Amino acid sequence: MGSKYVKCNEQEYPDGPRCNAVFTADNERDLLEAAGRHGINVHGHSNTAAFRNQMRGMIKEGMPPE
Ligand SMILES: [Zn+2]
Repeated sequence: MGSKYVKCNEQEYPDGPRCNAVFTADNERDLLEAAGRHGINVHGHSNTAAFRNQMRGMIKEGMPPE
């Protein structure tokens, strides 16, 4: 039960299905931690300030839509 969420929606492969991972947390730090780890491990992002800023921009308030 979180009050903030991030939907990944990143393309898994150039022509592949979109990733539909969703992360929820009740604070931004935990959310960025979980979503950031996913982006790095699954999508090969680097753990840079720019990447974290991008993650921060994807945070939505409330619960993810079903
Ligand atoms: Zn993903």
